[in-house]
Amino acid sequence: MNTMYDRLKFGEECTVADYTIVSDTCPGCRALPGDHHLLWCPSQACPVCGDELFLCACKGLSNDEAERLIEGIMKLVDSELADKVVTNGSKNLDKTYLEESVKLFINRCKHN
Ligand SMILES: [Zn+2]
Ligand SMILES: [Zn+2]
Repeated sequence: MNTMYDRLKFGEECTVADYTIVSDTCPGCRALPGDHHLLWCPSQACPVCGDELFLCACKGLSNDEAERLIEGIMKLVDSELADKVVTNGSKNLDKTYLEESVKLFINRCKHN
């Protein structure tokens, strides 16, 4: 069974990876050390592997966190990004959080 993680706060990245914080605030969302990143912040690291959270395939977050994250990422998704992810992504668009949010984006578009 997988251990489920919460999202990392800004500044905690260095505990899971060789990730050097060079700024007082998050370059992606301006979070202060010890604060959560905004959901759509692309600078978040995966709590499992330390790679970019949107793009890694660990899927280590709890279901609630993952759902919120996917909704958050969707704010960044436009049709151009969706096209790119559909072209380069995994077959079922379920490998990364970014893919899942693109899948959600596409489903919502269909229903509008
Ligand atoms: Zn951030
Ligand atoms: Zn990961």
